[in-house]
Amino acid sequence: AVPVSIMVSTGRASELGVLFRRGDALQRMQEAQVVAFDKTGTLTRGKPVLGGIAALGAEDEALAALAALESQSEHPIGRAIVAGAEARGLTLPQAEGVTAIPGEGLTGLVGGEEIRIGNRAFLRCDLPPELESQAAAWENEGATVLYAEKLNQTLAVLAISDEIREETRAVIAALKARGLHPAMVTGDSQAAAQHVARELGIEHVRAEVKPTDKARAVEELRAEAGAVIFAGDGINDAPALAAADVGIAMGSGTDVAMEAAEVVLIGGDLRGVVTAMDLSRRTMSNIH
Ligand code: ADP
Ligand code: MG
Repeated sequence: AVPVSIMVSTGRASELGVLFRRGDALQRMQEAQVVAFDKTGTLTRGKPVLGGIAALGAEDEALAALAALESQSEHPIGRAIVAGAEARGLTLPQAEGVTAIPGEGLTGLVGGEEIRIGNRAFLRCDLPPELESQAAAWENEGATVLYAEKLNQTLAVLAISDEIREETRAVIAALKARGLHPAMVTGDSQAAAQHVARELGIEHVRAEVKPTDKARAVEELRAEAGAVIFAGDGINDAPALAAADVGIAMGSGTDVAMEAAEVVLIGGDLRGVVTAMDLSRRTMSNIH
């Protein structure tokens, strides 16, 4: 039987926007040593915007072609690029055969020509020095830089920026004050990840983690430091949410993430992580 105090606490939690889908998560939360976060959409707002584009040829033409490709992606990056093209009043050409490689990028045909857009490793060609230095400058500002090529020739580099949630800094500080170790596990580049981590005071960062490797990153954290809470929002976070001792999904995130998690933050307010931890500690100390 579930102890009455756990029922009372999970009821109290749901009034505070923290849904315990499983009562035993309340028990396991207070055993955690590490609280690992996905970056995009969890530590950040997940509403990225196109900050800039630098192309080798005509900028608008490159952006229109890339937006055509991204209009078939469900990734927040795709939505940012499409919105950026719309803001410039561009008409999008037709894209065909678009394929998404999760955590890497997209390929497809525009005007019969093969276009690729994604992270640096996804690009096959070399970058000319002027685009290389633009990309480095944007990365130093903490932007996610995307690289695009057409017919195996460099086409453009793009900067995507996503604001840190207003409550994130306080959440990280509160977890540290409770003796927990915050960590970040993200598919984004080292530079973008380190920038956000520095802003927040997160020392343990794993960047450029493929969606299929996020669960392993959780297991490695557990081997190093003890029980792990993982908080995330994306389809790509589901394996890590399932692998964690307690998975916490953002209610603003994907259904897949919520189904894989034991705890859901209904309003997508990250402060729920601290609320849940405090309830867990209080409830369990009353029982024992
Ligand atoms: P996160 O873990 O931060 O949520 P993802 O694993 O979803 O990130 O993506 C990792 C990286 O893969 C992105 O930073 C980007 O470089 C690339 N990528 C993923 N999807 C797309 C897309 N639709 N268009 C361009 N690049 C993409
Ligand atoms: Mg995410």
